[in-house]
Amino acid sequence: MRIKLPEGTLGIYVHVPYCIRKCKYCDFLSFEKAPDDAYFDELAEDIKATGNALGNENKYYVDTLFFGGGTPSLASAAQLGKVLDALRESFDVRSAETTIEVNPETVTAEKASELRALGFDRISMGVQSLDDKVLAAMGRVHSADKARQAYRILRGAGFKNINLDLIFGAPEQDPAVWQETLAEVLDMRPEHVSFYSLQLEEGTPLYKDYTAGKVDLPSWEENRRMYHHAADALKAAGYHHYEVSNAALPGFECRHNLKYWNMQPYLGFGTSAHSFINGCRGELPDLKKETVSELKGDFVFTKLRLIDGFDLSDYSGIFGADFLADFSALLPRLIEEGYLEPSGGRLRFTDKGLDSTNIVIQRLLEVLE
Ligand code: SF4
Repeated sequence: MRIKLPEGTLGIYVHVPYCIRKCKYCDFLSFEKAPDDAYFDELAEDIKATGNALGNENKYYVDTLFFGGGTPSLASAAQLGKVLDALRESFDVRSAETTIEVNPETVTAEKASELRALGFDRISMGVQSLDDKVLAAMGRVHSADKARQAYRILRGAGFKNINLDLIFGAPEQDPAVWQETLAEVLDMRPEHVSFYSLQLEEGTPLYKDYTAGKVDLPSWEENRRMYHHAADALKAAGYHHYEVSNAALPGFECRHNLKYWNMQPYLGFGTSAHSFINGCRGELPDLKKETVSELKGDFVFTKLRLIDGFDLSDYSGIFGADFLADFSALLPRLIEEGYLEPSGGRLRFTDKGLDSTNIVIQRLLEVLE
């Protein structure tokens, strides 16, 4: 079967697995300790080795860099600089959108100017809430005021592309509290807003407290009201709601994350970071060639998260197969049940479908099994 993946540009993700303190809901890979020089030395070596291994075969140029975590802003300028130098030496980096995730607690005027000097041009700050009770219930290390102050410092340092991460469906948060946070964030006018529903992950302190009856969470109906309120409020304020949980002022959609949702190639460096390139997926250097069925699953899993969905011809362009025929066992039912809607050669979630994205995607993936 013919497989043709998009090529030309490449995104690079760097994982920095250190945090000041573990949040109660977090199951990301991160450790409560100071960033270790040896980790960054190893990252730089891995980056150089991969760049050399790609050598003349490297037909990509890098147009996005994303430092995520953990809390990358905990790392020193020297640690981050070492990794950035290795990236710029080993890859063809051209006018790249260069993002770093920051925790408000780490932001000082000095830190902000260091990040600017290193070449970061996009900040993604984990604010989560502007209500101190909600922040404390989630075990966040910073206060609401600290987040407000950090935002002012970053703007003062000249950052013109800032994402604020928010969480709804959190403990101590009813729809009114969420609406207050959102209204204040909209007044702050960041270029980008991510709004995620709190996920109760097994094994986390929050999960244990919830199952022991010590913590209450908003109901499913309240959670959905919060989601749709955010989507509507962002749209009314001029933001483009382009992915299930992401909205941006026009032109500020996250180029790096769009690569994940558009099945474009990226490399990931650092503990547990994933890569996807030439139809192979996994952790460097051991990438595994995916089967056609796995690639079709990736397509559904990623592209359907875009609010505009996807053009059916994109599917046939990559796989030489007809999407409607491949999913004929289920698709008519999902459309009839009102979860998905075809329109102008595209397929996308309806408003009702946006409340059940994971279930719908899971049902589609089962067709491929
Ligand atoms: S700051 Fe982020 S990565 Fe670190 S513990 Fe909290 S949620 Fe997890």
